[in-house]
Amino acid sequence: VTAEIIDGRACAQELKRAVAVDVKEAREEDLDCGLATVQVGDNYSATAYERRLRRLAHDLDVPYFQHQLPGTSTEDEIIRVISRLSADRSVAGILVLRPLPGHVREPVVFSALNPLKDIESVHPENAGLLALGIPRYVPSTAASAFHLLDTWLRSAGEDPPAFYHRSLIVVVGRSNNVGKPAVSLAYDREAAVESVDEWASRTLGLGWHTRRAHVLIVAAGKPGLIRAEHVAEGSVVIDVGINPVTDQGTGQVHMVGDVDFAAVAGRARAVTPVPGGVGPVTDVWLMRNTMAAARYLSVACGSHPGGPERDR
Ligand code: NAD
Repeated sequence: VTAEIIDGRACAQELKRAVAVDVKEAREEDLDCGLATVQVGDNYSATAYERRLRRLAHDLDVPYFQHQLPGTSTEDEIIRVISRLSADRSVAGILVLRPLPGHVREPVVFSALNPLKDIESVHPENAGLLALGIPRYVPSTAASAFHLLDTWLRSAGEDPPAFYHRSLIVVVGRSNNVGKPAVSLAYDREAAVESVDEWASRTLGLGWHTRRAHVLIVAAGKPGLIRAEHVAEGSVVIDVGINPVTDQGTGQVHMVGDVDFAAVAGRARAVTPVPGGVGPVTDVWLMRNTMAAARYLSVACGSHPGGPERDR
C-alpha cells in the first residue's frame, strides 16, 4: 500500500469534540435541540444508520426521537408524522431515512418538512439554496467527503484553495442526496468539476472520466466499482459507498465501499477506507447541522439564507 489512508474515525472524533461544545452551549441556553429520525420499512442500511445516530445522540446528550413506520405506510401517513415533528418545539432537526419504499415519492414527502428543520437539505427550498452556493445546511455526506478532503489536504501541507483551483474533481453517482450536493460543494471550491452517472459510465466508459480526476469522489452504491485502472497515479480518492455484503461462508454481513481499496491504494496518493472513512464523519456532521437548526429556530433568522453561521 502506497497511498496514505485518510482516517475518518480520527477526523470524526475531532469534529465530535467541537459538536459536544455546541451541544453544551445549546443546553445551557435552554435551546430545543432534539433530533428526530423517520424510517419507513426496514432497509438494512437505514436501520444501521439509525442505530448509529441513536448511539451518537446518547453520547452527545442530544434528545433523540425515533419514528419507525411500516413499509406499507402511505405518503399521507408519512406526511402526518413529518408535519407533527415539524410543529414539535422539542425537535430541531428531522432526518427522513432513505431509501423510502418504492411507492413513496421522495419530493412529496420532503416538501412536507419545515425547511428550518430540514438538516439534510432535501426540501426544495434548501436544495435550491445549496445549488446557489448559499446553503442553509450542507448535506452531511457530501459535507463529510469535503471535510475529510480539506482536513487531509492541510495535513499534507497543501493549501486547499490553491489545490482545488488546479484540480479536476470527478464525482461518480448523481443522486439528489449525495452526488449532486458533492458537485455543488466542488463548484463552491472553484475546482473543475465533472459528474458521472450510470449512463456516462456505459457510453464513454467509467475510466475515461475517472482517470483524469485529481480528486475522485465515488457514490454509486456498487461494491468494487472503482479499480486500479480507473484512477490516476497520485490522485485522492474518497469512497462514499457503503454496501452491505453477506459472507457466503459465515452468513455475516459486513460493509464494503465502491472502491477496491487494496488495488486503488497502490496508485492513489490518498484514499478513504470503508468502514472508517466518510461514514463516521457523516454521523457527526448531522449532529452539527442539528445544533445549527436549534440556533436557526431560536433566533428565527433562518429565513435569511446566510444563517447564523455560513457553512460550506
Ligand atoms: P443512489 O442509488 O441514490 O444513487 C447512485 C448513483 O450512482 C446514481 O446517480 C447512479 O446513476 C450512479 N451509478 C450507479 N452505477 C454507476 C456506474 N456504474 N457508473 C457511474 N455511476 C453509477 O445512491 P446514493 O444514495 O447516492 O448512495 C450511494 C452510495 O453511498 C451507497 O453505497 C450508499 O450506501 C452510500 N452512502 C454513504 C453515506 C456515508 O455516510 N458514507 C451516506 C449516504 C449514502
